[in-house]
Amino acid sequence: MRLRAWHYSLPPLAMMRVVSGALIRDGYVLMGLRKSTTLRPNLWELPGGKVDAGEEPRDALAREWREECGCVILVGEFISMAMLQVDISFVIELYEVKLGALSVDPQSLDHQELRWVNPLYAVRSMPCSPAFYLHYQHLRQHIDRSWSPSACDVVSDSGCTYEDCPRCHPLARPVRALHEVW
Ligand SMILES: [Zn+2]
Repeated sequence: MRLRAWHYSLPPLAMMRVVSGALIRDGYVLMGLRKSTTLRPNLWELPGGKVDAGEEPRDALAREWREECGCVILVGEFISMAMLQVDISFVIELYEVKLGALSVDPQSLDHQELRWVNPLYAVRSMPCSPAFYLHYQHLRQHIDRSWSPSACDVVSDSGCTYEDCPRCHPLARPVRALHEVW
């Protein structure tokens, strides 16, 4: 009993470091639906996971994508860092990732499914992991800064004539199936 009381009087020191990756294609981002049997089930997230002890965050991210999506990624620009308190403290770093030249396309090895999702649609209309909402603004800015749709000729407030443009018509085509032809 004494040991137990002592245990509970400790301040919450536990902190878990997590990395997530944003694979971006034509303004859409790859999201995975967490399994119904996991912690925080049935939420959409950017694939990634826990950084193991002694592991570099970028190495952890590459490992997690290999395990969860079966693909080889290159870890690019740091996008955002979020902190979250759910039982313990989580620090979640978000990086842009790109598929390696010889990699297969992502496969849902550890999710119910994978989808290409318009990020704005995700925050408005899909149940997402808490970290996704925290990362959203920086992700949005990153996409707007680093990507311009080839067909976008936006000159007015009403947007361009490219009806699939997620920048000008953000909710026009919110979700694409993983294997849909672009
Ligand atoms: Zn446009």
